Amino acid sequence: MTNEEKQLLTGVRELGYELSPTQVASLLSYLEHLDITNRSFNLTRIPREDYVSLHVLDSLTALTCLPDSDHLSLLDIGTGAGFPGVPLAALLPSAKITLLDSTAKKVRFAADTANSCGITNCVGLHARAEALGHDPKHRERYDVVTSRAVAAFSTLIELMLPLVRVGGRVIALKGARADEELSGTESLVSELGGGPAETRIVAIPGTDIHRQLVVVEKLRKTPGKYPRRK
Ligand code: SAH
Repeated sequence: MTNEEKQLLTGVRELGYELSPTQVASLLSYLEHLDITNRSFNLTRIPREDYVSLHVLDSLTALTCLPDSDHLSLLDIGTGAGFPGVPLAALLPSAKITLLDSTAKKVRFAADTANSCGITNCVGLHARAEALGHDPKHRERYDVVTSRAVAAFSTLIELMLPLVRVGGRVIALKGARADEELSGTESLVSELGGGPAETRIVAIPGTDIHRQLVVVEKLRKTPGKYPRRK
């Protein structure tokens, strides 16, 4: 077994999940393609040796906040090179994952590469989240909306909640300053139809970094004026 295979298997186990050999192969092949493509087209600044921990295992910390149900529909806003959407798709074969980004080349890379690596339950979508939130085909359609490293919480929540169905939830992958970002946003979150934000702290396996996951349940419909167009 290679070091990366070991790192991935033990890290995922630490998060409470098991990977099949096929899932390991798919994820590592995705990372290999990312590394190669990244040499000619800037997709990530994270160094190659940190891909397993800072891309895959970090993305998978979101598993600890997912509802316990099959056939989830999940939208990843600002997926970039496919994080957290692609690792989540690999771990949740019965879920349908939509990878959204406003840069067409990134969407194409993430969706095509995932599919060619055997992660076939994700589709790419090229749009801005502000516009998608007003599109009846997408508004209030998703069980879960995730996002990592896209915007401050006060901006992000307005992009995320309109796309979540009532009864679904938002999972924002935030860093050490999550509390600061959350302060003062209570009335906006409530206006958007969200319940109180809850933060869960999860260690990224094999690192001394802690991910702060901000979870907001959607309790009521979002008023039609949101997301406000920028
Ligand atoms: N989630 C990835 C990428 C973060 S970089 C990761 O954590 O590695 C932020 C990404 O969000 C960029 O790819 C950018 O194109 C995209 N983005 C920023 N604003 C957006 C918006 N309003 N709608 C859709 N995508 C957006």
